[in-house]
Amino acid sequence: MSWSLNLLRVNGIPIRIHFSFLLVVAWAVYIGFEDGGANWLQSVGFMVAFVLLLFLCVLLHELGHSLVAQLFGVKVVDITLLPIGGLARMTRMPDRPYQEFVMAAAGPATNIALAVILSIGAIAWLGPGRIVALALTPELLDTFLSDTGGQTLLALLILNNILLAVFNLIPAFPLDGGRMLRSFLAALISHRRATTIASYVGQMLALVLGMYALLNSDFFVGLVAVFIFMGAWQEREQARQQINMQGLRVRQAMQPVGLRLHPLQTIGEVAAQAATSPQTTFLVLDGGRLTGLLTRSDLLSALNKPGPTARVGQRMHREIPQIAPDAPLAEVSDRLAAGPGAAIVVEAGQVIGTLSRPDLQRLIEALRAYPEVLPRE
Ligand SMILES: [Zn+2]
Repeated sequence: MSWSLNLLRVNGIPIRIHFSFLLVVAWAVYIGFEDGGANWLQSVGFMVAFVLLLFLCVLLHELGHSLVAQLFGVKVVDITLLPIGGLARMTRMPDRPYQEFVMAAAGPATNIALAVILSIGAIAWLGPGRIVALALTPELLDTFLSDTGGQTLLALLILNNILLAVFNLIPAFPLDGGRMLRSFLAALISHRRATTIASYVGQMLALVLGMYALLNSDFFVGLVAVFIFMGAWQEREQARQQINMQGLRVRQAMQPVGLRLHPLQTIGEVAAQAATSPQTTFLVLDGGRLTGLLTRSDLLSALNKPGPTARVGQRMHREIPQIAPDAPLAEVSDRLAAGPGAAIVVEAGQVIGTLSRPDLQRLIEALRAYPEVLPRE
């Protein structure tokens, strides 16, 4: 993710922090200053420490998912800390439903473990007598929670770890609870049906949450409801596309090589030739050697800027992703999502075709209209 800074690596996973995170720290400083009065320095220190420690807990939550994912052989691309929480990106989902279940549960489980460990620390620090007194006397608890000392900080962290665990366990996509529900269902029925049911459950819960937000004019809860609703819809769409491609191979969707370009050709010249052709990916050859890839969308945007007199060599992609003709289509869509959005299909050292995102999109549309449009293995 752009606009983020690499912090460190844990078990080979880059931990990144998004720049907008600074806004949260600025907010903490402001609140601390506002509430602190004469004691503002202590109050600001308290707020900043609270925000940073809370995000450390969020990071540990994401690491919980990620380390379990690695255990199941799933590659974790990176973890990014955003103001709304953490985001661990994985290359794929694990193969078996129980693995997905354990992976999803590992996040909330980390927060529960943190709450337990911190509670043991709190009992040792405050003493059981004091905790009972706080629990039984609301006024005492009020004073305690508005304090800016270490003991209050600890109590707030325990509370927030419990909240994080409970919130993420709501069985609504894309929350962890939704993933746990899906994997549980996937053990009983097909993965696709499981995703459909779990995502409808997620959207229903999002509607309930949205209704609550409207009735109470709670902007934050409303935002969360929208986020859940959209996330559930997206998961359902994704599952539909993936399942549709099962049993299909790259060979069936690839396009013939077609028009080949030279790096010194102008964009305008190529556009004129390509205007009426369906070709989406062009190989760029120099002296018989493959030097780059140009896609139709590169071509169209280059017509605008830098303009039709620019050369193909200026706009082409020099990194050329390669895929095998017998690779499952469901697996290559991820690879086409990054980089130039297109790849060459290579068999025995020869380029036998190309495959691009628009090619795949066209096939997905055809499959949606008629799933048996191509023979499956
Ligand atoms: Zn999680």
